[in-house]
Amino acid sequence: MASNNSTHTAKINQLNGPKADFFARRQKIEQHRKALPIAAVQKRLLEEVSNNDILIIVGETGSGKTTQLPQYLFNGGFCRNGGIIGITQPRRVAAVTVAKRVSEECGVTLGQKVGYAIRFEDVTSSSTRIKYMTDGLLLREALLDPCLSKYSVIIVDEAHERTVQTDVLLGLLKTVQKTRSSGASDMVHSDHAKADNGLLLEKEEDVQCTSTLKHSRGKKLSPLKLIIMSASLDAQIFSEFFGGAKAVHVQGRQYPVDILYTHQPETDYLDAALITIFQIHLEEGPGDILVFLTGQEEIESIERLVQERLPKLPESKRKLSIIPIFASLPSEKQMKVFMPPPVGFRKVILATNIAETSVTIPGIKYVIDPGMVKVRTYDPSTGIEPLIIVKTSKAQALQRSGRAGREGPGKCYRLYPENEFYKLKDSTTPEIKRCNLSNVILQLKALGIDDIVGFDFIEEPDSFDLKSATDRSAHSISMVKDDKFLCYMKLMMAIIKSMELLFLLGALTDASKLSDPVGRQMAKLPLDPIYSKALIVADQFNCLEEMLIVVAMLSVESIFYAPVKSWKRYYCSLLFYIFMCSLSRTALRSFSSSEGDHLTLLNTYRASDEFLEKSKLVSSQEKAEKNLRKWCKENFINSRSLKHARDIHSQIRKNVEQMGLRVTSCGDDMLPLRRCLAASFFLNAALKQPDGTYRALSSGLTVQIHPSSVLFRTKPECIIFDELVRTNQNYVRNVSRIDYLWLTELAPQCYALQE
Ligand code: ADP
Ligand code: MG
Repeated sequence: MASNNSTHTAKINQLNGPKADFFARRQKIEQHRKALPIAAVQKRLLEEVSNNDILIIVGETGSGKTTQLPQYLFNGGFCRNGGIIGITQPRRVAAVTVAKRVSEECGVTLGQKVGYAIRFEDVTSSSTRIKYMTDGLLLREALLDPCLSKYSVIIVDEAHERTVQTDVLLGLLKTVQKTRSSGASDMVHSDHAKADNGLLLEKEEDVQCTSTLKHSRGKKLSPLKLIIMSASLDAQIFSEFFGGAKAVHVQGRQYPVDILYTHQPETDYLDAALITIFQIHLEEGPGDILVFLTGQEEIESIERLVQERLPKLPESKRKLSIIPIFASLPSEKQMKVFMPPPVGFRKVILATNIAETSVTIPGIKYVIDPGMVKVRTYDPSTGIEPLIIVKTSKAQALQRSGRAGREGPGKCYRLYPENEFYKLKDSTTPEIKRCNLSNVILQLKALGIDDIVGFDFIEEPDSFDLKSATDRSAHSISMVKDDKFLCYMKLMMAIIKSMELLFLLGALTDASKLSDPVGRQMAKLPLDPIYSKALIVADQFNCLEEMLIVVAMLSVESIFYAPVKSWKRYYCSLLFYIFMCSLSRTALRSFSSSEGDHLTLLNTYRASDEFLEKSKLVSSQEKAEKNLRKWCKENFINSRSLKHARDIHSQIRKNVEQMGLRVTSCGDDMLPLRRCLAASFFLNAALKQPDGTYRALSSGLTVQIHPSSVLFRTKPECIIFDELVRTNQNYVRNVSRIDYLWLTELAPQCYALQE
């Protein structure tokens, strides 16, 4: 009897344990939701959305806009008749992590009621009603379904970020909304437009429909509700753009944050960040640390340095849990930032600017802000688009320090002197004024919007008086410095330059229309136009199998890593450092190709593939993956980046197969691949000068081969490159040797034979 009883109790415990955990977690989530500032205005927000077709919602980061509003709308009946609430994010990380969180809050499996779609990944189903996605993805969906007919509400989130895709989306949505509310009866639900992993599988009839944004299959569409959300207090620009749309403010909760500055400017901000992490850890009370860095490379190098330094601390002080977060990190790793650290541990989150407003991380008390950010810039006069590290704006610095005061008073360590803060720009220049627009132009053209210059860009002044502005500029150039006229002209120049690029790539015809088939095929691929071109041309050169690998490897940041550089200050002695460098070089040499980095990347990918396949023969998938990570470490390969490249590879392979391109291999003969690189990257060609530097042929800029290139020492006569990085010099990265004559043969539109 007694034994029976105990078995019974054990069974109950078994059932109750996980169930009790589940209910406790649900209760905690409910409490958390109710305590968010936005919860207090839920009813009012629903009324405002009902009463206004366009609404602007401004609210401090962390107030609950992104996670809560879509749920309020769903519960408020905005998905009746099967409509979907679409929420766009400028960043993939935010779309994925927020969708995961919201599916948990709703108690549903991700991909069912709540889902997300980003380039190369679609986690939605026919039952999805709350769909998080990148703004770029929604733009692509518009190609198939120009009225975005499956959406009842579209929320453009993080509009203050002013990414190109957001800006273009705002212009497009304005038209879509007008069309849907006026000629709704002429419109049609397109046959379930779905971007399949970023590729649009369109039907011929749909393509024709897109040109006018009007269909005629007679199904009535409901008007579209549009909500623009922003963390910046300046809602006016959005309100004006939407003809005086109503803006509501959600009061946030902010505790005081102590701002500390350095006495002197720091020569090495990474070094300074590292010291500050340990200073806080050793001297300050409990609370997690958030460090803003500019990219994956910096994050991984700081991660390694902290890990290496930790064992030197007394045992009781080693409880630091380092958590990186950046765009290309696998999504299960991204979710780690939201998990509590092991008991007694302090979390140190190393983040890019995604942690500024897109992703709100709980538990932060200390923020370290070196004041830098990596941005893409574009110089229309040269057509060059380098990634550069620049100072943040004041608005960004304020957002960053604000992260320390979400749950209680905090501290922000700005790693620059106070007077530097006042010299910062007030706000960040919208991306549309500083980036290559060829990608969005291609998409607008595919949408049938041919008049790009006349497109309703948010930046374009409404009642812009071109004549008076021109007159003023004739009087004094300095008078118009920085004013709207100059901004407008810059935008126009960027448009013209980007169109020229598309024309040279063969995507546009003489009449500036999308060419068929090249332009149409390029618009279908979710890649930069030059990469898309490379894949399309590779079909003709019979080397698509190889080019898919090259493009996948080029699409990720830093496949190879060098040993940490800050050996000086830390316990890594000079001799050890030199030894590590020589090891990494030896490792690279085993894959390196004398033809350049593209073939080196190909060799590396293939070697890793071969290793994985062999490993799978003798061990389980999981063990094989683990072995691969070890192999990567031994070969100084970034296993995260390699994994990301493998994922991209399988997606774009599917994409080109669906498009009907032939995935054939050029075997051991690499000549077709190299010629194909010349035929697609010809705008990034450079010739060696007598002094050993290079002249970029399309821009005339003097550039040098980046030290990380396998061609750094060989310096061939003529090269093509993937990207230009501007530090103290103009460096070109991912370089391959080509023959100049190939350019004249394969890109005669740009290069003529000299007589
Ligand atoms: P906002 O969009 O106004 O900046 P969010 O809706 O993103 O605010 O965040 C609201 C709250 O939800 C914050 O306290 C944040 O920490 C929390 N949160 C957001 N995403 C997650 C997640 N994936 N896991 C746990 N908490 C999260
Ligand atoms: Mg948000």
